[in-house]
Amino acid sequence: MPRLPLLGLLFAAPLAAQQTAAERSGFTATSSHAEVVAFLDSLQRLGAGVRVGRLGTSPEGRIIPYVIASRPLVDGPAEAHRSGKPVVYVQGNIHGGEVEGKEAALMLLRDLTLGAAPVRGLLDSVVLIVVPVYNADGNDAFGPGTRNRPGQLGPDSAGRRPNGQGLDLNRDYVKQEAPETRASARLLEQWDPDLFLDLHTTNGSYHGYVLTYAPGLNPNSSPANDYVRDRLLPEVRSRVRARYRQEIFSYGNFRNADPDSLHLGWETYDPRPRFGVNWMGMRGRMAILSEAYSHADFRTRVSASYNFVVEVLRFAAAEPATIRSLNLAATRQRPDSVILRSELGPPVRMEVIAELTEPAGQGGGSGPFTRRRPTGRFRTVEMPVFDRFVAARKEAIPAAYLLPPQHAPIADLLRSQGIEVRRLLSPWQGAGEAFRLDSLTVQPLFEGHRTIGVEGAWRPRPVTVRPGWFVVSTDQRLGVLAAYLLEPASEDGLVTWNLLDRDLRRGQDAPIVRIRQPLRASTELLP
Ligand SMILES: [Zn+2]
Repeated sequence: MPRLPLLGLLFAAPLAAQQTAAERSGFTATSSHAEVVAFLDSLQRLGAGVRVGRLGTSPEGRIIPYVIASRPLVDGPAEAHRSGKPVVYVQGNIHGGEVEGKEAALMLLRDLTLGAAPVRGLLDSVVLIVVPVYNADGNDAFGPGTRNRPGQLGPDSAGRRPNGQGLDLNRDYVKQEAPETRASARLLEQWDPDLFLDLHTTNGSYHGYVLTYAPGLNPNSSPANDYVRDRLLPEVRSRVRARYRQEIFSYGNFRNADPDSLHLGWETYDPRPRFGVNWMGMRGRMAILSEAYSHADFRTRVSASYNFVVEVLRFAAAEPATIRSLNLAATRQRPDSVILRSELGPPVRMEVIAELTEPAGQGGGSGPFTRRRPTGRFRTVEMPVFDRFVAARKEAIPAAYLLPPQHAPIADLLRSQGIEVRRLLSPWQGAGEAFRLDSLTVQPLFEGHRTIGVEGAWRPRPVTVRPGWFVVSTDQRLGVLAAYLLEPASEDGLVTWNLLDRDLRRGQDAPIVRIRQPLRASTELLP
């Protein structure tokens, strides 16, 4: 296969079809929502053979498009999975000002359908679902890049991080308060993609990589995510280096940006499922975070995102059976415990490329990195790399959780996550467990919530329930996710996001009870 430098691809392909707004502007501007829609229309008019659907509607009324692309074009999820090809979901622009994922996704759709070999051939071997402008409202809230994306090298005008309700969509996967999240969860449930790719731009350290990446980080993640971390991503890293001469690495920030303290290490972000990639990992599917480097220019960031997605697709296309079987194993595995809280795991010593910085002096802004100025000098330093989390607290997984009828909003949220919830049709009593609350901590305001942390323990208690109670069995595909969300001591569950506030009292039992043996009673599945 010829080693085409990326610029060759960027400038050869548009001759065959429409250019994106970014390409037309020479990478000084990014597409509005209307320009994304017009670009997708033009692809269809030119015979790209893709199907464009409506994911949902944003709070400000914008229709969020999704695109199905495959060769031959599949008519739905069943046909997609029957084909044996990996089904890959690519999402751009979840944070409105982080625009290169959107641009790369549009270019890729064009090049896969109307472009030239070798990229074009990839579409014979994967089924793609692309949501180029997931946060349509944030994308169109254009303002000076210096305000909306401080530290990001272009474009001059970019959108803002939250959606039209002011919510950060990449903190919304547990509580699902945004219509975008609910709509996307529905699509993901229908299509059940093998691999989820979420495209962002960094906010942090000065380093030597055009792009950094992470697998699902929640330690409840399955062997599928271990495979992403240990096989897929390192292989993609070496291919990107060989084919495009671009350096990419595990996502992280330096523990200390001072050149004399770089040896302290490089640390990844957060294992909680409020982040989409971690949430998908907990659903037993392969998931990848992509973070183009904000201090690289816009054209370079688009090219890095494009090349990264191409090489991930190429890897997936070559290993469909492995990917399918690992995802299937994740669906079938029945762990006997759920990890409720995590801590950083032991580091691995690796070489990391740092861009040296110096104090920015007066007016350096706030935060650990804005106070320092890059020097254009790089140094490769061996240091501890903290790229994973391990269990800090576990609970045995019970047979089922039982919820009183007044907690219908919780039942609704669980169903939105794809978790099966049943309703009790007859009374039942038997041995169970209740969670006695020892203490409760209220956190500062975050995303419109004062999130809650509780301490306490389960203890045996006779349980009596009436018709109308909700039953959540853990013997289901998303049983571990269900347990994680319902356990009161979870670091990112329903208690965290205030769904049980009115029923939590120190020294008393929480309203959720659990049973060790499967419920022998008449129930109906909620639709
Ligand atoms: Zn982001």
